[in-house]
Amino acid sequence: MCGIIAYKGWKDASKVVLDGLKALEYRGYDSWGIATGSEVVKRVGRIGESGNVVISPSSIAIGHTRWSTHGPVTWQNAHPHLDCSGRVAVVHNGIVENYQELKASLSSHRFASDTDSETVSHLIEEKLSIGFEQAIKEAAKLLKGRSAFVAKYENRLAAARKGAPLIVGIGRDEFFIASDISAFFNHTKNVQYLDDNELVIIDEAAHFYSIDSGEKVSKRVVEIDWQPESAEKGSYEHYLIKEIMDQKETLYKAINQDESKIMSVAADINNAYGTFLVGCGTAGKVCMAAEYLFSKVARKHVNSYVASEFPNYSHYLTPKSLIIAVSQSGETADVLEAIDAAKKSGSKVISLLNVFGSTMMRASDQYFMVNAGAERAVVSTKATTAQLAVVTLLAYASIGKLQEGKLLLLNVAEQVNDMLNPRYEEHIKKLAEMLKERSDMYIIGRGINYPMALEAAIKLQETACINAQGFAAGELKHGPLALIDEGTPCIALVANDSVKAEMISNAMEIKARGGFIIGIAPENNEAFDYWLKVPDAGNASPIVNIIPVQMLAYHLALLKGLNPDYPRNLAKAVTVK
Ligand code: GLU
Repeated sequence: MCGIIAYKGWKDASKVVLDGLKALEYRGYDSWGIATGSEVVKRVGRIGESGNVVISPSSIAIGHTRWSTHGPVTWQNAHPHLDCSGRVAVVHNGIVENYQELKASLSSHRFASDTDSETVSHLIEEKLSIGFEQAIKEAAKLLKGRSAFVAKYENRLAAARKGAPLIVGIGRDEFFIASDISAFFNHTKNVQYLDDNELVIIDEAAHFYSIDSGEKVSKRVVEIDWQPESAEKGSYEHYLIKEIMDQKETLYKAINQDESKIMSVAADINNAYGTFLVGCGTAGKVCMAAEYLFSKVARKHVNSYVASEFPNYSHYLTPKSLIIAVSQSGETADVLEAIDAAKKSGSKVISLLNVFGSTMMRASDQYFMVNAGAERAVVSTKATTAQLAVVTLLAYASIGKLQEGKLLLLNVAEQVNDMLNPRYEEHIKKLAEMLKERSDMYIIGRGINYPMALEAAIKLQETACINAQGFAAGELKHGPLALIDEGTPCIALVANDSVKAEMISNAMEIKARGGFIIGIAPENNEAFDYWLKVPDAGNASPIVNIIPVQMLAYHLALLKGLNPDYPRNLAKAVTVK
């Protein structure tokens, strides 16, 4: 969360940083700010909505787009934060957990914001008498919690990384520091990875040091051999609908994995004493779907966990355990902590990722890119179905039936391609019109579609601000049925599988109590008041069943006047715990 970009070089730094902030906006968008050699500009709101911002040219600048953790969304709390003299400017990502203690030790300083981040600029100021480089080293050492900062002082930049992402870009006589490569990819593809507990000082060159020992660290320049797919909206009004439509192609790309790698990871799963899938939010639901898929397809027990709860189970890890970490961004803080725990226990780590060069990619023994291309909407759609495709491949591969799994998924990709047509969207729009006044909605599923009921609820919550709840269909009569009343919308995720008859009975039970049943299913049924047809996808039904819900959430958001790309209170790449 939060996007950072800094530049020093011969181009107009304010322009490079403003453009970079636009590319990073998905990471946080409650306010933004930039400090150049001569001015500080901060605004509340999205940078994309700030119109034409005029800033004098400069050779050095740092910028930030915020997702607030400490202090409300105000101009004062927007970054950069200055020291008392106004000479040190800092942008910060994450949380300084010991900020109260640090602030108490800086009682002679004048603080201008409520943020934890501002302690960093004052800490640097406090130590400035020993020189900027030394001040950075000492300040970085004192910070607790997962975070990263960039500081600007005169014509120098410095950055420290303690658990939140930062990457250094090296151009010809120019330097970039950013939360992710997308912020400077148009300028250079040469990077130096700043690892955790390292800092960098940039004057005429980039000098790296360990935060703990203060020793110099030598770094290779790595040329990124990866072309991010266009993150443009094209003719679409929003990223979200563009990314939903992208699923016509992304499934093919997700399936197109290195088969020997799939087979070797499948063997790892078979040989492991305990496979633990961890993810947060939507990726967590993919992990849960994987647990069901492995059980159904391979009769194999793997465990799925919400990453933030994994510390309660990490004592189970041994050198024979296997962790499969799932994250679109590869930067999710709770998942990274699970990876840390796995490494401490000597367990093997495999990641499913969508962002190349991410922290998880470098921290894993093996990784799969799910190949969904840049996902800019905060709400995950194409990365989710791509992750589902990869875990499905792994489940089939673990019983030596990779080709069967591949064929199933290729078929599904073809059917999704057909399904995502304008007529289908119109049919969903009509449903959205019928539901737009409803503030509550329920989604039921069984078996491999139970995790998708939970995922569907997330989609409707974050995109359309609907109080949506997903349930295992069998659980209804144990409580939630009490919530159903005349016209209550309830989505039933149905597949042609062994639990279909029970699903229909559960839908009937809701209908009998006045519920309005939206059936997402390959065939219509008298239980349904509105039917959204999906392909008959067998064990890949989670993929096809979630897509209409993504589209419904999008159209409900539009009808409710919400911006589907920027959900209230959220951001992508959740780098705080
Ligand atoms: N904790 C800082 C704040 O609330 C930084 C948050 C961020 O990562 O955007 O300003």
